[in-house]
Amino acid sequence: MFDSLSEKFSDAFKTLSGKSEITEANIDETLKLVRTALLEADVNFKVVKMFLASVKEKALGEKVIRGVDPGEQFIKIVHDELASMMGNAHQELDLDKKKPYPILICGLNGVGKTTFTGKLALYLRSKKKKDVYLIPADNFRPAAKDQLIIHAKNLGVEYFDSDLSLSPVEIVQAGMEEAKKLGKEVVIIDTAGRLQVDDDLMAALVDVKNYLKDPEVLLVADAMTGQESVNVAKTFHEKMELTGIVLSKMDSDARGGAALSMRYVTQVPIRFFSTGEKMKDLEPFHPDRLAKRILDMGDVLTLVEKAEEAIDEKEAEALMKKMEKNQFTIDDFMKQMGMMNKLGSMQGLLKMIPGMGGVLRQAGDLGDAEGEMKKMKVIISSMTREERNNHKIINDSRRERIAKGSGRTKKDVDEFIAKFLQMRKMMSGMMGMMKGGNMPDLGAMMNGQAPMPGMRQQAQQRRKPKKGKGKNRGPFGGGFFK
Ligand code: GDP
Ligand code: MG
Repeated sequence: MFDSLSEKFSDAFKTLSGKSEITEANIDETLKLVRTALLEADVNFKVVKMFLASVKEKALGEKVIRGVDPGEQFIKIVHDELASMMGNAHQELDLDKKKPYPILICGLNGVGKTTFTGKLALYLRSKKKKDVYLIPADNFRPAAKDQLIIHAKNLGVEYFDSDLSLSPVEIVQAGMEEAKKLGKEVVIIDTAGRLQVDDDLMAALVDVKNYLKDPEVLLVADAMTGQESVNVAKTFHEKMELTGIVLSKMDSDARGGAALSMRYVTQVPIRFFSTGEKMKDLEPFHPDRLAKRILDMGDVLTLVEKAEEAIDEKEAEALMKKMEKNQFTIDDFMKQMGMMNKLGSMQGLLKMIPGMGGVLRQAGDLGDAEGEMKKMKVIISSMTREERNNHKIINDSRRERIAKGSGRTKKDVDEFIAKFLQMRKMMSGMMGMMKGGNMPDLGAMMNGQAPMPGMRQQAQQRRKPKKGKGKNRGPFGGGFFK
């Protein structure tokens, strides 16, 4: 969702390249471009003003460090200010204050409260090892209870069978008593929304909040509605004393203004963001990491965390060994694709590698990587187990059969096998390099022209991209997914 902002920032920083130091005169143009970028991303204008003043002050106060490009110094300042505007460090929920610990979920209609209730249950159970209980307390839209129960059943989380003819506070009272009896550690309460902030709704929520005595109160706000959701958050905070905000639909084409202004305007920490309709599409909100993603400095930490979750370490190790020895089979390849699928979209992942955002914007054709993976899967699934474990036996007649079975042409199958062999060779080469301590520059491997921030000079010295060859170099580079 920050694509356009990232691109505009990167244009703004270009105005500083070649300058020997930062002066009031030469950052004026850069700041103007940053200002336009933020306003176009729908960031609150007061926030933009504060941000620019503070970046300017820091930039002019910065000592020139010999050998460091002023452009890069400036990016660092913008990074720090962006992170600070969004609240700096991630704020964890403190769930041990009492037992059972109530978390009240509130917000307008359709913002994603019920979906988030399910996601949070999954997150707290799998990451925080909590015994979670759900209370459906939306008696405004009866289907909401069924919707939550479906999530609860899918996740295997226990829920309260609320009587929707009661008032929200009565439902919550009964539900909390049941949770106590069951010895639950955390209770998540899904509530009703309205189209707009509404007195009846607020009164009912305040009743529930007072009954619960200092619960966690999380507002779900739709990132797509930008400044409007910031205003909604302000109103909810006045009435409900929010303890956190969840930004939903961050996967949409929202421009990012809500994420950037929410904390500064409301003073309430953003705790999570939601990035899709599936239960696993939830990320703890890390302002510093998000600032890095926006500035195309990569988010290696989140990438590593995601990888740790999705990848079976033993299996990954076994695959690495096979890659190194050039024993990697089509079956292994299928397994690897499965792991990558679990990680999420290819584009999203690539953007977490420093410098890749710009490369993707330039390349513009990696978008079909996922489509390409699907095509390969269809071909692989028409192979027998024997074939998958030993590509050497796949002769012409077998190729014809595989083509028919997968609804592709024989040429597609030939191409797939050629690519597989090419990739296998590259993998074993890469593993060798990693072992020898020469960790390859991933950006460069994928595109041949990916300077990482802070590494520009080194990168230029190290490699001179050869025309036309760049895109075919990496293991998942254009060669495979063109
Ligand atoms: P509620 O009325 O606030 O309880 O909203 P729901 O949880 O019922 O969600 C409304 C719609 O938004 C549903 O179709 C959800 O699947 C969808 N939704 C919720 N969160 C996200 C998200 O993070 N991304 C996307 N793309 N859709 C979401
Ligand atoms: Mg709902």
